[in-house]
Amino acid sequence: MSKHDLLIIGAGLAGLRAAVEGVRQGLNVAVITKVHPVRSHSNAAQGGINAALTDRGDDWRDHAFSTIKGSDYLADQDAVEVMCREAGDAIIELENMGVIFSRDDEGKLGTRAFGGQKKARTYFVGAITGSALLHVLYEQSVKYNLHIYEEWFVTKLIKEDGRIAGAIAFDIKTGQMEMISAKAVVLATGGAGRVFEPSTNALICTGDGLSLAMQAGVPLMDTEMIQYHPTTLAGNGILLSEAARGDGAYLINSEGERFMEKYAPEYMELASRDVVSRAEQTEIDEGRGVDGCVFLDLRHLGKKFIEDRLGYLQEVALEFRGIDLSEKPIPIKPGMHYIMGGIKTDLNGATNVPGLYAAGECANVSVHGANRLGANSLLDTIVFGRRSAIESVEYIKSVKDVEIDPKELSREKSRIQSILDRPKGMRSAELRDKMGSTMTKGIGVWRDTESIKYAIEGMKSIRGQLPNVYVENKGKVFNTDLTSYLELEFMVDVAESICQGANARFESRGAHFRTDVTTRNDKDWLKHTIVEYNGEELNTSSEDVTITDWEPTERVY
Ligand SMILES: Cc1cc2nc3c(=O)[nH]c(=O)nc-3n(C[C@H](O)[C@H](O)[C@H](O)COP(=O)(O)OP(=O)(O)OC[C@H]3O[C@@H](n4cnc5c(N)ncnc54)[C@H](O)[C@@H]3O)c2cc1C
Repeated sequence: MSKHDLLIIGAGLAGLRAAVEGVRQGLNVAVITKVHPVRSHSNAAQGGINAALTDRGDDWRDHAFSTIKGSDYLADQDAVEVMCREAGDAIIELENMGVIFSRDDEGKLGTRAFGGQKKARTYFVGAITGSALLHVLYEQSVKYNLHIYEEWFVTKLIKEDGRIAGAIAFDIKTGQMEMISAKAVVLATGGAGRVFEPSTNALICTGDGLSLAMQAGVPLMDTEMIQYHPTTLAGNGILLSEAARGDGAYLINSEGERFMEKYAPEYMELASRDVVSRAEQTEIDEGRGVDGCVFLDLRHLGKKFIEDRLGYLQEVALEFRGIDLSEKPIPIKPGMHYIMGGIKTDLNGATNVPGLYAAGECANVSVHGANRLGANSLLDTIVFGRRSAIESVEYIKSVKDVEIDPKELSREKSRIQSILDRPKGMRSAELRDKMGSTMTKGIGVWRDTESIKYAIEGMKSIRGQLPNVYVENKGKVFNTDLTSYLELEFMVDVAESICQGANARFESRGAHFRTDVTTRNDKDWLKHTIVEYNGEELNTSSEDVTITDWEPTERVY
């Protein structure tokens, strides 16, 4: 059995930022990841990362207000304050580590505009921001000689005497299963996009950490808050970054009209994502779309500008649609992109289980509330990844090693073996597709009592069919058939928690828009929804939102 002070599950931006901090704090740190670190989904982020830099005449309070307004007043304002206040230093630190941010004509760090904000405060590296950040943090982890369990798959968290004691995982290359003991664990497992089909998320974004936390008795918060991004390619759901609209692209309908004039006259295409997605869906539903899409129009920006600043988008448009963005508008529609909800933590990433922390997309520190602003997620990973590692230091110093019951490992081995022993049945892909379409239909851009009921019933049936799934490959080496099944189990847990959150919140707020109750109800629902697993079923409850300086008002763009 391997032993560490701090085990970080996930090697995306949140995990690597936490790991670098843990090493700097003198801890024995290990990172475990089911893919090579730079293949984590953070790598796909294109648009940028937000920060209000004081020496650029910006103010973190303005960033905080935009974030809170964007969240439809569901974000905890103390958490937003922390993120926005620390953003400037985080960006400069990343730059000092070696991120080559794009620069403006004067040679200063360049900015582009992003949705839901009046000021351009999104820092970027061309259209490969996430990749640039992730590679630099990976370099740092190499510099610090970080212990990385690369291509290892975590199946279970271990608790002893009510506190975290480590995790069980297997080496995907050999099938070897091990107990990894740790005084503290940070979950940095990323999002759960693949619960829905289609999604902009990589195939590995299967919500493993949300399920692991839930199984360990940690509540999830605001799970109903699913972000539909306004510009995804029809069919495969590939993202066309908000950077396009930030850099001046228009949205037009089948009549060539810039329809955002009707929905958000002041912010136009740069209103919050939930607002733009609903506007698009209204146009499509009312017959001003083409084949279920509206269009993103970049023609007026010119070929050179598009290729310099938005080269990756041009590549995607050419490759998947044969469209040159400087010549033709491209069909797009709202698509599942991000989960605002997640593992409930405090401002330092701590959960209710001593020694267990969460950061990044899997966590809900509560900075995004009911709708995340574009380019605030990369910031969230960096700020709260760091804070969770710092927070773990005192705790790690204060606790002794725990003895883990060896039966934990043998029980988990038998569980996995019993899955492999199923002689025949259906394939996991069949059930996964059913889940994806059920969730998209039930918990979509619009939802109502009926559609949520449809998703709940659909998920109940899918859960019932899980034991009928069989894993054809019985081998030990790179058994992706097995990992896909285990991911499906995680996703079913997450999907059910999303349905419960959606069912509980009887109002419309941010991304949760119910056609049967179309207004926000602050009197009863200025509250977080909480979903908890008690070992038998999911319980829902609610908790107050923290308000500091910004009283909720009507949200207009
Ligand atoms: C296409 C796309 C574009 C985006 N663009 C932007 C943008 O421009 N700006 C912005 O702010 N945000 C953007 N986002 C959102 C942002 O990229 C993510 O929210 C963020 O990068 C998530 O980082 P993370 O560290 O939490 O998780 P990830 O980067 O997803 O990493 C998760 C890690 O967990 C590991 N893991 C998961 N489960 C297990 C398991 N069972 N066992 C072992 N390891 C496991 C994985 O191997 C991986 O290393 C975008 C997202 C997408 C999908």
